[in-house]
Amino acid sequence: MTRLLERLDELYAIGAHRAGYSPEEDAAHELAARWMREAGLEVARDDAGNLFGRRGAARVWSGSHLDSVPNGGRFDGALGVVAAIEAAARLPAAPLAVVAFRAEETGPMGSRALTELPEAFVELHIEQGPVLERAGEPLGIVSAIAGQARGAVTFEGRADHAGTTPMDTRDDALLKAARFVVHVADCARPPAVATVGALEVEPNATNVVAARVTVSVDARAPDSARLAELVRAIDFAPAWTLDPVAMGGAPLDALRAVLRDAPTLVSGAGHDAMVLAAGGVPTAMLFVRSLNGGASHSPAELSSAEDVELAVDALTGALCRIAR
Ligand SMILES: [Zn+2]
Repeated sequence: MTRLLERLDELYAIGAHRAGYSPEEDAAHELAARWMREAGLEVARDDAGNLFGRRGAARVWSGSHLDSVPNGGRFDGALGVVAAIEAAARLPAAPLAVVAFRAEETGPMGSRALTELPEAFVELHIEQGPVLERAGEPLGIVSAIAGQARGAVTFEGRADHAGTTPMDTRDDALLKAARFVVHVADCARPPAVATVGALEVEPNATNVVAARVTVSVDARAPDSARLAELVRAIDFAPAWTLDPVAMGGAPLDALRAVLRDAPTLVSGAGHDAMVLAAGGVPTAMLFVRSLNGGASHSPAELSSAEDVELAVDALTGALCRIAR
């Protein structure tokens, strides 16, 4: 496991921000290509710049991404690539491919540009949330990647003097918006989630009753029925939606077989696995416990060496089952 952790350090040393298609992401791909060759894999790149380390017919893929958000952590994406290389090294006879997709954080761009799809895909990823840590579980099997609906709701009021307008004569747009923010949170039944993360207040002045407020809404649920129900309950018109995708097929069966007692969870974040699953590829994801309260997209992002070891064992076992 020392080798894997050293590799995460090497990738992080390139930079805590490895933007998609930047020199930093290129350097990360160069390192991964070297490690793929050391694992006995044949290195190739497609037109989108995705990196493949193949062995044999390679109809089973495992991997993730090497780009990162600004000031990101050392596990998001990178763990899934170095763990897949480790698994491939442990399975020297298995026909499989390790893949490092380009620009996941700003797309996903690389996985969307694939011109060839595998017969099965497994992505190992840090959870990026506190669920496994709170459950006291090192690993979790993802059953679905949540669908998303985003939009905005605007509340109209009347601008008035904050000192001279009695409370009972005001038409305060921000007060209406505040009630709506609470309503949005109340509508989300676990595992669905709903968030107001941005407000636009006009005129946005300390001594003026707000005339107009626009409230963002981000709603996520594990399947289409529950997402539609959530959107109905919140009562907003989504400007953008992303369909939920279910994990399934041989990869999910294999993970369940090697991790009989692992809990199942829904991924609230999008991943390259979402793109492959939406493209019809039987896909599964294995989550590794995030420490530090689930801190992610931050340098505080952490998984323990013990948990990573368990994850690589499970990934190796699952890939062995699918590839044979
Ligand atoms: Zn990621």
